[in-house]
Amino acid sequence: MPKKVDDNKKNMEICKKFCGPCPTFKPNKLNEVEPHMLFCARGASVKPKKEIKESGCNCFNCGVFKNYDLKGGYFCIYGKEGKK
Ligand code: SF4
Ligand code: SF4
Repeated sequence: MPKKVDDNKKNMEICKKFCGPCPTFKPNKLNEVEPHMLFCARGASVKPKKEIKESGCNCFNCGVFKNYDLKGGYFCIYGKEGKK
């Protein structure tokens, strides 16, 4: 079962290393709008789903993803539940 992800500094530092270089992140300018990062804890980007082009997701290699038993990935688009 996925656990609730803590929005803390430690997880933010980890997220930076994975969302940061993700091919979906910078090209869609997700860094420029809320919640900027740590989507698995904070929920989807305020940028509408239809305007975000999926180009791969680095979440699957991220330590937070493993520690909290997360599923789905693409939290920036689909929110905390991830992609079904
Ligand atoms: S949630 Fe996944 S797809 Fe979205 S920016 Fe982070 S690594 Fe990329
Ligand atoms: S699982 Fe994805 S959104 Fe969550 S901390 Fe890791 S890279 Fe960031």
